[in-house]
Amino acid sequence: MTRGETLYGVLGVPADASPADIRAAYKEALLALHPDKQAPGTSATEADAFLRLHSAWQVLKDAELRAAYDMQLLEAGHEKGLFISAEVDLDDMEGHVGKDERLSFSHPCRCGQAFVCAESDLSETADSLLVQCQGCSLIMRVLYTVDGSADQRGPVQSASLRPETDVS
Ligand SMILES: [Zn+2]
Repeated sequence: MTRGETLYGVLGVPADASPADIRAAYKEALLALHPDKQAPGTSATEADAFLRLHSAWQVLKDAELRAAYDMQLLEAGHEKGLFISAEVDLDDMEGHVGKDERLSFSHPCRCGQAFVCAESDLSETADSLLVQCQGCSLIMRVLYTVDGSADQRGPVQSASLRPETDVS
């Protein structure tokens, strides 16, 4: 395997892709590589790409092999930014109001540091956010809701929209 490219990279899927996503990505990549779709004079590089694709699929389609492979990657510390170590609901994170009333959230990491994200990082068009630990390469997925229901629970208030609470 080329250093820096994982089996996930070969298939073009994230490391937390579902089996269905992996299957779909494999089929799509396979179609794109199929000899019938290639212009005459296909290079050896393409045959090579097919082999890499096939071997990636052999591992990632199998839950046990995939888990073993994930462990290898994790131990090698090799896939920075791809490993989702946890999923945490925003409501379960600790809220902090910093200077300028910026609201941020933190969650402890097993390395002793923390995952930190700001309220302003939360997008209205998504319902989760990947946050990297400040002390190591682990990534956590923060789950949140963007509708009004968040107003009734947790520390999520529209603090950034209503700066009248300045009591300094
Ligand atoms: Zn950490």
